[in-house]
Amino acid sequence: PVVTRFAPSPTGYLHIGGARTALFNWLYARHTGGKMLLRIEDTDRERSTDAAIAAILEGMTWLGLDWSGEPVHQFAGAARHREVAEDLVARGMAYRCYATAEELKEMRETARTEGRSAGYDGRWRDRDPSEAPAGVTPSIRIRAPQDGETIIQDHVQGRVAFPNADLDDFVILRSDGTPTYMLAVVVDDHDMGVTHIIRGDDHLTNGARQKILYDALGWTLPELAHIPLIHGPDGAKLSKRHGALGVEAYRAMGYLPEALRNYLVRLGWSHGDDEIMSTDEMIAWFDLDGIGRGAARFDFAKLENVNAQYIREKDDADLLATLIQELPHLPDGDAFGATLDEERLGRLRKAMPLLKDRAKTLIDLIDRAGFLVAERPLAIDEKADALLTEEARATLGDLLPRLEAIDDWSAPTLESVVKAYAEEISLKLGKIAQPLRAALTGTTTSPGIFEVLEVLGRVESLGRIADQTA
Ligand code: GLU
Repeated sequence: PVVTRFAPSPTGYLHIGGARTALFNWLYARHTGGKMLLRIEDTDRERSTDAAIAAILEGMTWLGLDWSGEPVHQFAGAARHREVAEDLVARGMAYRCYATAEELKEMRETARTEGRSAGYDGRWRDRDPSEAPAGVTPSIRIRAPQDGETIIQDHVQGRVAFPNADLDDFVILRSDGTPTYMLAVVVDDHDMGVTHIIRGDDHLTNGARQKILYDALGWTLPELAHIPLIHGPDGAKLSKRHGALGVEAYRAMGYLPEALRNYLVRLGWSHGDDEIMSTDEMIAWFDLDGIGRGAARFDFAKLENVNAQYIREKDDADLLATLIQELPHLPDGDAFGATLDEERLGRLRKAMPLLKDRAKTLIDLIDRAGFLVAERPLAIDEKADALLTEEARATLGDLLPRLEAIDDWSAPTLESVVKAYAEEISLKLGKIAQPLRAALTGTTTSPGIFEVLEVLGRVESLGRIADQTA
């Protein structure tokens, strides 16, 4: 069975590219009936933080990307990594390197001036350790092939050949006894039974180096799929302004997790022209063959459209529950939440179909719901205030008793009463509806005015109108 893994380094939040990598791994595991494991690559002790680990787990949980078993913490395996490195030395597949820091720096500079990517010249490859200088603690380097090519077969990139002259004898164990990324990844993927490595194509060259290690260890290289990175709309590397943000930033912008997931799955993978797909469809359709080779471009406008569609199509009660659950993560969400007594919650429940219709994000939803939770007397904005002229206030005052007389407080009845009144005094409906909106919402934009009356309810509506006519 297929075993995939997501292997983030906890040096920052779960960024959007990482989330997409996790999603692809999750989908592929689901698609094949396998499982996805989570490995926290915390071997960089200086830069790894508990806060970042928590943010990664929370981001994945929010996105609904669950993993099998307990997360594996890479650093915990340091002894095992060391053991594998020593074993390679014992078998002659790796060797101790006593080059000093200055020597290494010199070699790197020479390589740079000569335009070679391989930095290490192999000077300890065949030298006897008895020649080791005093006071230098050795690192361990792999004895990599020097001629020919290392070839990897990748599900996305196809066959990729790397001249071995470019892949030097890289370090697998540092002089302080800690494993390098290259060694730790190989040992852990092997020990965890990983069958498929799906990750960003910035790791493609690492794939070749890892192949060398697998060969030296006599282990089977997992299947590889290196996915093109996400770029900005201009084709350049994704910048903060263009979306290179943590998942929690998208959460704070009021995106629904299922919408973000749907948007992300199409960044680099597609299924015909299908834009919107259910989780079940994604799982059924996802395959490594559908991953494109070109860089995906991040597009906020598209994400917004997808999100708006998910909001529109979400069940009203579910949407309200989600909104309430997300409030602590939204700017001013807590303040909004604090206003929600039973009565206001009831208004919100009734108003959901009106509010969600044009909302692009949960923040829009809160904005549009503002009038429902506002306290009397309402704060009236400048534009709305301009509509509440002496004359308009007098008209509303006139209308008030007719509204009070209504038994059936529903939008259609309210509409017929207001229309009849407008006709009676030969005023265009708008001349009444606009000041009415100003009085009821304190603004000049809202859902249809009769629906607004209905969801606000009789007592609150009459009170708000009376506040402006007194
Ligand atoms: N920890 C690496 C990263 O966050 C990923 C390693 C891998 O997937 O092999 O970039």
